Amino acid sequence: MLPAELSAFNYLSTPIWVVDPVCESLLFSNRAAQTLTGEMSLAALRSGALSACAQTRLTAYMADLKNQHEVVEIWSIKTAKGVLALRCRLSQASFSDFPDVIIFEGANISHAASENYARSATYKPHKHNFYHRFFMTTSAPMLLIDPARDGLIVDANIAALRFYGYSRHEMCQRHTWEINSLGRQVLPVMAEISRLPGGHKPLNFIHKMADGALRHVQTYAGPLEIDGDKLMLCIVHDITEQKRLEQELEHAALRDSLTGLLNRRQFYALTESHSALPIPFTSDYCLLLVDTDNFKSINDSYGHLKGDEVLIHLSRILESCSRKGDYIFRWGGEEFAVLLPRTSLETALAVAESMRDAVTKSVNSELPEFTVSIGVARHQPGETRDALFRRVDAALYQAKNGGRNKVLAA
Ligand code: GH3
Ligand code: MG
Ligand code: MG
Repeated sequence: MLPAELSAFNYLSTPIWVVDPVCESLLFSNRAAQTLTGEMSLAALRSGALSACAQTRLTAYMADLKNQHEVVEIWSIKTAKGVLALRCRLSQASFSDFPDVIIFEGANISHAASENYARSATYKPHKHNFYHRFFMTTSAPMLLIDPARDGLIVDANIAALRFYGYSRHEMCQRHTWEINSLGRQVLPVMAEISRLPGGHKPLNFIHKMADGALRHVQTYAGPLEIDGDKLMLCIVHDITEQKRLEQELEHAALRDSLTGLLNRRQFYALTESHSALPIPFTSDYCLLLVDTDNFKSINDSYGHLKGDEVLIHLSRILESCSRKGDYIFRWGGEEFAVLLPRTSLETALAVAESMRDAVTKSVNSELPEFTVSIGVARHQPGETRDALFRRVDAALYQAKNGGRNKVLAA
């Protein structure tokens, strides 16, 4: 049931989405929003071709929103006419059933990229003016853009020339869409940004340097009128290193460091019904539990490092036998779990058998020969993950008792 407070949004003509920032899921969209975006998921709206946002994780906005700072995102909306950019203003709210949600309020959608621009061909830098000197000497790369001339860069400061690697002459012949990885698609995004008031949260893009290298940038862009010319000032902050560290941290949080496989936590995330991931597998999947046979004796005879190499080698074999869409996890120690979405028990047994067989046939002169035992089970409707694991573990135990190097179903 919808709380009455939310259904009141249906009377508004502006599109409204109410979002749970922790699960990153849509809790409610009003009628105007449903008309505009239909069944599009929050992830698709936020990460489409024209989307731009300052934070990947919505929870990262909460402090700013609670302090009533201006936060905006640009979303990509699929329509019959193609993808359109929609500017959304974010605010924080609490409802009886939903404390701490984010409200996304969409602006009126614009169909023409440059509809409201005054022509502006007259911009000339006033070289002795204080603001121009400030512009030139600040260490933050800054671009002045003329939206009326297809996003032409009409001025760039020294820091920007250094950052992009162009001479002033070269830089001022280029358009924003030539340096933005979105290409000409950035024009409707720019149109949306040019309507934003100053002081909003920056947006992230990928920019191309003169030598072809790509850098992640966070841009603070807003309208600026100089002697009657309606321009846009864009301050560019290089966040490539920050992005790399973020990706590394994300990788470390998702993956097992020895084998590079997903870790156990990711199994729970994927099979969690409230999962923020795009495809939660709450049911209809098979599970394999793969355990290396007599692994302790491999460690004892060849040393722990060789044991590690065996685990890495086994991980690659499991990957090579898995199908597109299957997920392999390092469950712990010398045990691996394989999640086979939308798979019958019969097919799961065949996949497990191919894995067992591939291990026995794999040839690596650097490593001792080894085998695996595999327990297989199909998730039953309503079964908890712990109950499923008990069944698959029991099947694995039987495979071990039956002499190892075996596949058994629960
Ligand atoms: P079984 O066939 O019954 O599974 O016998 P096993 O020897 O494989 O099983 P056991 O549980 O007795 O031993 C597992 C061993 O795996 C013990 C542990 O030291 C080793 N192990 C766990 N994690 C790692 C790891 O990351 N690297 C290495 N080299 N060894 C590990
Ligand atoms: Mg074990
Ligand atoms: Mg073992």
